[in-house]
Amino acid sequence: MNLGAAEYLVKPVSQEQLQRSLNQVVLPGPEAAAQDRLGQDSDQEAGSGPVEWPLVLVAEDDNRITSLLVDYLLANNYQVIVAQNGAEALKQARAQIPDIIMMDIQMPEMDGLEAIRHLRADSDLAAIPIIALTALAMPGDRERCLAAGANDYLSKPINLELLAQKIETQLEQNSSAGLL
Ligand code: MN
Repeated sequence: MNLGAAEYLVKPVSQEQLQRSLNQVVLPGPEAAAQDRLGQDSDQEAGSGPVEWPLVLVAEDDNRITSLLVDYLLANNYQVIVAQNGAEALKQARAQIPDIIMMDIQMPEMDGLEAIRHLRADSDLAAIPIIALTALAMPGDRERCLAAGANDYLSKPINLELLAQKIETQLEQNSSAGLL
């Protein structure tokens, strides 16, 4: 895989870079690309093929958490776009059609639950897996998230390995569902 004219996000993620990534897809960084090139000698042909990294939309109003997630996802060869509230998340989802969405529940302007309901009501977006993120594991949180239409649920502080497992599970389920 070749990143071509990809826009790199260097670490740690700065405020300016986060702002920039609100408007465009951010691809895994040079380290991932270099590793990939070492692994397979296909530089020449790769430029014409589609980028196969799944696109993750991270909707989260706390920039520290967004940075953590973006960093981790890029290091694990996901593409990332971010949103800071539910309305932005809807806009980004419609514009970019992500493969999966991480949705913080508590956000200003439009919260995550409302955003999830809108996503599920939109036939173009209804099938996108959503993993809800909540600040504290409150009784009933999981049920509220699932009732709104989330596929899975993760409470903060976020366990990144668990998050990665959940993302993979959702992507696998979604791709096999698409084959039926
Ligand atoms: Mn929040």
